[in-house]
Amino acid sequence: MITLEQKQFAQIKEMASHYDRLLVLGCQTCSAMSFAGGEREVKELASMIRMERKISGKPGDILEDAIARQCDPELVDLIGDKVRGCDAVLSLACGAGVQMLAERFPDKMILPGCNTTFLGVTEELGVWSERCAGCGDCILDKTAGLCPIARCSKQLLNGPCGGSVNGKCEISKDVDCVWQLIIDRLARLNRLEMLEEIFPVKDWSPAGHGGPRKMIIEDLKS
Ligand code: SF4
Ligand code: SF4
Repeated sequence: MITLEQKQFAQIKEMASHYDRLLVLGCQTCSAMSFAGGEREVKELASMIRMERKISGKPGDILEDAIARQCDPELVDLIGDKVRGCDAVLSLACGAGVQMLAERFPDKMILPGCNTTFLGVTEELGVWSERCAGCGDCILDKTAGLCPIARCSKQLLNGPCGGSVNGKCEISKDVDCVWQLIIDRLARLNRLEMLEEIFPVKDWSPAGHGGPRKMIIEDLKS
């Protein structure tokens, strides 16, 4: 999933203050799972903005809605009338959702209500951690299913660096050394010989270093 966190209310309040009629729009997929912008968070945030406006005597209407995915143009177009009826949209989706809205509604200001953080997993309720950096050329077959690009502080492909202590990364005793985890897992899988393979210098062009990326499945194109 993509993890998100809602921006500080002071920041949201400042962004929203330029617009009278505001639509607070949630996204029911990753944002809802991150507790940043699902239906419940939309309701809470919309009522906070209404209350703040009442206290400060600022006029305007605060509308609210949530759709399944703001990164899907067909779903976004379904709320076109509502968006066009507002001065601005406060999107509680990830950066992709915000930009999809901006592309579909070129005459409307779209405000980001969340910070997009990383591609990760839920460790337990309320705890997420990063697992993938979207490098475009997955090497997990060579690293026992654990990603050194997203999880090694130095992004070492031929680790470990030598700084790890008691299985923890040298940057913090709270961070596991992923290379220690890789070694432990290869040992468990009886595949320690895989560590002898030296990774060549990585081609970062599929990771976006060759410009914005696009994915096309010809058979699905209309
Ligand atoms: S190797 Fe690349 S694609 Fe695979 S998990 Fe790591 S960052 Fe993601
Ligand atoms: S201690 Fe481990 S995780 Fe930290 S930078 Fe070195 S190899 Fe990477």
